[in-house]
Amino acid sequence: MGTPPDENRREELRDRYKRAETEARTAGLPLSREQLTALVEFVDALVIEEGCDHTLRHTLRWVGEQSLAPDPIVAALEELGGFCDCEVVMNCDPEDVFG
Ligand SMILES: [Zn+2]
Repeated sequence: MGTPPDENRREELRDRYKRAETEARTAGLPLSREQLTALVEFVDALVIEEGCDHTLRHTLRWVGEQSLAPDPIVAALEELGGFCDCEVVMNCDPEDVFG
């Protein structure tokens, strides 16, 4: 027993902070990491192929193909900075979102 060294304590706090941050970011996201990964890959391919027309049309195509409710997904993606397809690719990377 005894007081843990400061370094361990700092690391523990940092881990806890990171976890809380990830939880806050993903709390409103109605997609799992696997789903977000699939979505970003799908949209990325279509943005490369067809470009981004400043809407979420590719995103919504994927959402429709998955038979998911679009509104909560769009709201969550916008929360992450994904207001159009190319922004979804840039700002909604599952590595960043889920840590
Ligand atoms: Zn765009």
